[in-house]
Amino acid sequence: MASKAIGTGVCPRCGRPGTVVIKAGNYVYIKHGNTWHYIGTMDKINLNKILIKDEKNERK
Ligand SMILES: [Zn+2]
Repeated sequence: MASKAIGTGVCPRCGRPGTVVIKAGNYVYIKHGNTWHYIGTMDKINLNKILIKDEKNERK
C-alpha cells in the first residue's frame, strides 16, 4: 500500500485543515482525524493551493 502524508493542507471540501495524504501515487485525500475527504487525482488538483506553507514554523 503506497500511502504517503506530504504535509498539512486546507481541505477544499470542508475548509478545515488536515493532513494531506497521497494514495497509490495519484489519489489525494485530506485526513481530519478519523474522517477522510477525497479531493481528487493529482492531475485534477493543485497541491500548491491546498498545502499550507509552514516556513516560519509557528507554534502548533
Ligand atoms: Zn475535509
